[in-house]
Amino acid sequence: MTGKPLVELNSMSKYFPLSGGKKVYAVNGVTLSVARGETLGIVGESGCGKSTMGRTMLKIYEPTAGNIIFDGEDITKLSRRAMLPMRRRMQMIFQDPYASLNPRLTIGDIIEEPMIIHKLGTPNERKAKVRDLIETVGLKPDHVRRYPHEFSGGQRQRIGIARTLALQPDFIVCDEPISALDVSIQAQIVNLLEKIQRENGISYLFIAHDLGMVHHISHRIGVLYLGSLVEYGASDDVYGRPLHPYTRALVSAAPIPDPKLSKLKKRVILEGEIPSPISLPTGCPFAGRCAYAMPECTQKKPEAYDYEGRKIACGLYAPSKMMEYSRAGKTPEEAIFS
Ligand code: SF4
Repeated sequence: MTGKPLVELNSMSKYFPLSGGKKVYAVNGVTLSVARGETLGIVGESGCGKSTMGRTMLKIYEPTAGNIIFDGEDITKLSRRAMLPMRRRMQMIFQDPYASLNPRLTIGDIIEEPMIIHKLGTPNERKAKVRDLIETVGLKPDHVRRYPHEFSGGQRQRIGIARTLALQPDFIVCDEPISALDVSIQAQIVNLLEKIQRENGISYLFIAHDLGMVHHISHRIGVLYLGSLVEYGASDDVYGRPLHPYTRALVSAAPIPDPKLSKLKKRVILEGEIPSPISLPTGCPFAGRCAYAMPECTQKKPEAYDYEGRKIACGLYAPSKMMEYSRAGKTPEEAIFS
C-alpha cells in the first residue's frame, strides 16, 4: 500500500429526483480517498447510502455535486465514451453474483466476455487468461464448460471475482460481496480478496454492514450515516476506540465471539428511527438519536474535525469544546463519555 491516492472524492453528493420536486438525498458531501493497494471499508446501516456512494464513485450513477478523481484525473464530467478506458480499471463485485452471471453462458464465456468487450488479447490469449483466472480464484479447470446454476453461492462469487479480474482493474468496489454467503464461505472469499490484493496491489472499497468483518479486511474505515461520513480513520482506531457517538453505538452492537469480553462491553442502545433521506434534518443527521446532542446540533451540520489522525463530524470535537476539556484537565473521551 502506498500513500498516494488512487481514488478521491471531494464533497461528492448524489441526489435522486422524485415527483413533486422532492429528492432522495442519498449521499451528502462525502470527502475521502483510497490509496493504491489499500482497502477502505465503508460501514453503516442499510439505506445509509453505501451502495449509492460506491456506484457513484464508478460513475454508474452521475454525481450531483463534488468531484471524483481517479489516478490524478478528474473524471466527474467525463462522457460515457471518454470513461471507457477508465471503466476497465474501475470494477465492481456484487452482493448477488448469480443475478449478474448470464445463465445461458458457460463460466469460460462469462469470464472471457469483458475481455472481448474491451478488445483485450487474441482469442488464444483470452482463453489462456480464463484458465489462469479460474485457477487464481480456486475453481477447477473443467469448470469452464459448466453453467452458473451448477455452482454454489461461494463458487458463484469466485466466478464473479474472476470475471472482474479479467480486466486487470486497479480499483474494485466490493458491494457487500459476502453478506449472502454462509459464514464459513465468507472467510474463504475474504481470504481470496486479500490474496488478490497482495499479489496485484489492487485497491478496494469494501462495503458491508458487519463492522467486525470490515475491521478485519480494511486498512481504514469510513462510517456513513444518512449519506454523510461521520467518522473516518485507521481501522484499528475506529473499531478499537470509536469516537463519534454513532460509531460507538455501531461498535457496541457488533457481536463479540468471546463471552467474557462481551460481558465487559457496555452496550449503547440506539433510540429512534433513522430520518428519511427525503427530508434531511437541518443540523447533525444523527441529532434525533444522539444521547449527547446539544442545542446547536440541530442548527448546523457539524464539520469534520481532525482529531488524532481521524476525521470526526461531531460538534463535541469542535476546537472550542476541546479547549473546555483541556481546561478541565480531561481528554475528550473522559469529558464526553464518562
Ligand atoms: Fe450528537 Fe451533536 Fe455530535 Fe451530532 S454533532 S453526533 S447530535 S453530539
